[in-house]
Amino acid sequence: MCRHLAYLGPPIPLSGLLFDPPHSLARQSWAPQDMRGGGTINADGFGIGWFPPGSDVPLRYRRDRPLWTDADLPALAAAVSSGAVLAAVRSATVGMPVVETAAAPFAEGPWLFSHNGKVTGWPDSVADLAAALPVRDLLTLDAPTDSALLWALVRHRLRAGLDPAGALAEVVALMSAAAPGSRLNLLVTDGTTIAATACGHALSVLASSDSVLVASEPLSPSDAWRPVPDGSLLVATASTVSVKGVAS
Ligand code: GLN
Repeated sequence: MCRHLAYLGPPIPLSGLLFDPPHSLARQSWAPQDMRGGGTINADGFGIGWFPPGSDVPLRYRRDRPLWTDADLPALAAAVSSGAVLAAVRSATVGMPVVETAAAPFAEGPWLFSHNGKVTGWPDSVADLAAALPVRDLLTLDAPTDSALLWALVRHRLRAGLDPAGALAEVVALMSAAAPGSRLNLLVTDGTTIAATACGHALSVLASSDSVLVASEPLSPSDAWRPVPDGSLLVATASTVSVKGVAS
């Protein structure tokens, strides 16, 4: 199952997340340590979204192939710095297409979104939830995948003014009821706040006084990494972290 991360804090080179740490996202793409629910490597695409310093609209780079095969990326990542990043590597769920548009982050306006997991009973289980979306949203889904539908459901709520944590909590509650047993690790940022759920997959957080890093797997062996308990909703800024039950 895919691996994802989000960072807020002083600007750092993207390579400080993607390549440099001992268990960087690149390493997690070919040697993940805590895959649950199927999949062995994350070779079906990757994506990076980042806010250029001073901008509240992110840029994005996605590809439909393994991160480690992009020979230009290490130099690009070393040359680009950002204080707000969301990145992911994908292991496509069986039956879902390997296309660039299925790779996270999904994006609109100030938001970046990623899903690590799988909706059970796809696609029949989500019929009612999908039908509640505007037909325009359904017919313009980024890709015919569970993650793209989850993004459409979250985005619908963000557009309506719900805050990212509220949007994730509502979508997890609805999806858990419609498709019990789904794995729903969702991650969203607007560049100043991260909201993330741990529902069926691993998630850890590393916080300092002026930065926070949330990731499927710790990027380093540091004891400062804290596991986020299953069933949690995490909300963080660069200087604050709160974790509560996703249903509370
Ligand atoms: N089910 C999603 C997809 O196929 C996410 C996969 C994952 O977490 N491995 O894109």
